Amino acid sequence: MNENYRLPDQNAERNRTAESRRLTFEMPEAFSDLGKGKTYVISTYGCQANVRDSETIAGMMDRMGFRKAASFEEADVLIFNTCAVRRAAEEHVLGRIGSLRTLKKQYPDKIFVLCGCMAMEKGIAEEVAKNYPQVDLLFGTHNLHELPSLLARTMEGKRVFEVDSEGSGCIVEGMPVERSRPHKAFVNITYGCDKFCTYCIVPYTRGRQRSREPEFILQEIRDVKAMGGKEVTLLGQNVNAYGKDLGMEDGFTALLRQAADTGIERIRFYTSHPRDYSETTIDAMRECPNIMPALHLPVQSGNDEILKRMNRGYTIEQFKTLYDRMKEKIPGITFTTDLIVGFPSETDEQFDDTLKLADYCRFDSAFTFVYSPREGTPAAAMEDNVPLSVKKQRLETLNDLIGFWARKNNEAAVGKVLKVLCDGPSKKNAEVFTGYSEENRLVNFTGEGFREGDIADVRIKEARSFSLIGEAAIV
Ligand code: SAM
Ligand code: SF4
Repeated sequence: MNENYRLPDQNAERNRTAESRRLTFEMPEAFSDLGKGKTYVISTYGCQANVRDSETIAGMMDRMGFRKAASFEEADVLIFNTCAVRRAAEEHVLGRIGSLRTLKKQYPDKIFVLCGCMAMEKGIAEEVAKNYPQVDLLFGTHNLHELPSLLARTMEGKRVFEVDSEGSGCIVEGMPVERSRPHKAFVNITYGCDKFCTYCIVPYTRGRQRSREPEFILQEIRDVKAMGGKEVTLLGQNVNAYGKDLGMEDGFTALLRQAADTGIERIRFYTSHPRDYSETTIDAMRECPNIMPALHLPVQSGNDEILKRMNRGYTIEQFKTLYDRMKEKIPGITFTTDLIVGFPSETDEQFDDTLKLADYCRFDSAFTFVYSPREGTPAAAMEDNVPLSVKKQRLETLNDLIGFWARKNNEAAVGKVLKVLCDGPSKKNAEVFTGYSEENRLVNFTGEGFREGDIADVRIKEARSFSLIGEAAIV
């Protein structure tokens, strides 16, 4: 363990002014050949924020001369970009790294890197330092931009564990990016989160909310478009709070409208919070045809008492009002959500309220989670008193209901012609294309000559629970 390993001081980060918060990335000349003749592989866990960070890591690795390897066995540098939201996700990563211990013994020159949210969690660096000697470099979400120098030190034979830096709490512009899917780009608009839901570790692992300045975001969207990109997803933990930390009143709506004015074909955003919606955002979604009518709106629970103890800041009545308002104003809008079962002291009746809400909203799909206590969060101090067997039973019941509505919603699409952004041939069958409709429905379709990035009119023939089957239509 490095002597200078310490977690960033979030209070100090909070006090940064807008000016002192921006850094510009520069690749030191000395590192541009660091990876010559060497290869890397990245394994990404968790949410879209991590996927986007991995694209930045890939961009930096490429700039240093590393090339992508096809497997862990072939790679010289093995990077694990991790998620800390649930303990199960962490155990998965640690299990994977553990299983590669013999590979490291056989090839001691291979470099193992653990980065992302787990690295920012209290106690994890110590656990890794002690029990996973194969990990040579550990860095976090706040010093991603320092990867070249951290890696250079590791390649000199040092074991480097560092998550804090001069740039902690800064926004670093100009970082290279190697997009995994150029026709569909993730564009960060905020980093971190200020909501402090009682169960959630994200505000601790990713820090307080920092919004990028609009001109950098808009330039990134224009660049994506200029390179032939068709869709951008504006990313943040709480996108509709965009700009609040920059003193903006209604920053998200203004940004959405400016993004729409770039003329990019499709705009999505992920994730928004029910508490921060304004009527003006709903108006922008209705009025701008390139803002897609599909919303991921996490509700977490259908019960007011549980929501209160989660610190979510809304009631079910308020959530339903927002949902109804959007349905009324935005034609064809579809909804997906996140739900947690087995939060401390959740009773059968409170869980039933979640089922009732799922029936009311008829979500297209949902990420459903068994509550997992995270050390350092307020909920971890509450008694985790719902037995695991009950949590699992609730999860199954909820998943069945979500599946039921997903299929019903898909059945309603049969016979319609949907506009599908093609992701290329399906992995399972090269003769079938796959893509997403404007409403974010997964569509597998037949047709001729479609390429990644094409938008096809697809007539829907058949519905499955979580996908649609169709054929390209001549319209
Ligand atoms: N910022 C987003 C929001 O509030 O909607 C979500 C970000 S979080 C990475 C993704 C989801 O993980 C949350 O919506 C929640 O459902 C789930 N989650 C977070 N902490 C959890 C925990 N301790 N146990 C189980 N699920 C959790
Ligand atoms: Fe976590 Fe809540 Fe922030 Fe989402 S809004 S990242 S659930 S603290």
